Order: sequence, then C-alpha cells, then structure tokens
Amino acid sequence: MGESSMRGSRLGSLSYETDEHVEPADRQLIQYACEKEHLTAVPFSVEAEEIPLTWTCRCGGQAKVITPVANLARPDERPERHVRTHWDMLMERRTIADLEALLAERLELLHASGRASAEHDDVDHIDEGSVIEQRKSA
Ligand SMILES: [Zn+2]
Repeated sequence: MGESSMRGSRLGSLSYETDEHVEPADRQLIQYACEKEHLTAVPFSVEAEEIPLTWTCRCGGQAKVITPVANLARPDERPERHVRTHWDMLMERRTIADLEALLAERLELLHASGRASAEHDDVDHIDEGSVIEQRKSA
C-alpha cells in the first residue's frame, strides 16, 4: 500500500518538473503545393516523427509536400500481414460443408467399426454439432 502511494507522488513530481523545464520545440515550415500551384506552409515541430506527404490546400485540393526534410512520412508499402491459423489453412482447402461431410463419414466409420468390434460403443458420446462448433471458434 505504501509502495503505490510513493509511486504516485513520484509520478506527480516528475510531470511537474517536465512542465517547468521543457521549452517549446523548434518549428520548421513545411511547404506544400497543390495542382493549382498554391503554396501552403505548415509549421511542424522539428521533432515531429512523420511529416505528412500531403496537405489539404485552401482550394480543397491535395497539396504535395515540396520541402525536402528527413522526417517525411514514408508511404506504407508493406503488405498486410495476416497470421494464418491452422483453421485458415484448412478453410482454404475445405468448406464447412466439406468438413461436415467428412465428419459424418468418419463418424459413420467409427460407428461401423465400434459396432463390429464391441458392444461398448464410446463413439456414441461424440456430439457432432459440438465438434463443428469448436472448430469454428478456434
Ligand atoms: Zn490549391
């Protein structure tokens, strides 16, 4: 309990210090030109992580950046990463209907072999519906 109140007061004093000592960051004027050759100058902090490549011009058009700066945003060309699950891969080869048919087939085989080999038939306890539902939500 004492620990959490100490942490709280330390955070408070830290943010108070930050407010007092940090000066406003320097600004740089980034110029944008639209198709109609309107120039728009937008002030950005020199510490800005990414300067946008386009800006909306006063005429409503898309103005493109013309000031060469190091921290320009880069167009994102990375392909969308999608982590494939086993279920996704299965779905690329099979439809739900396929799987249901396969399952029915399998259960048929199990029932048949169960009936042939013994009187005790554990296969009857398998609920076909719940197997399909579990696969869907996985
Ligand atoms: Zn314009």
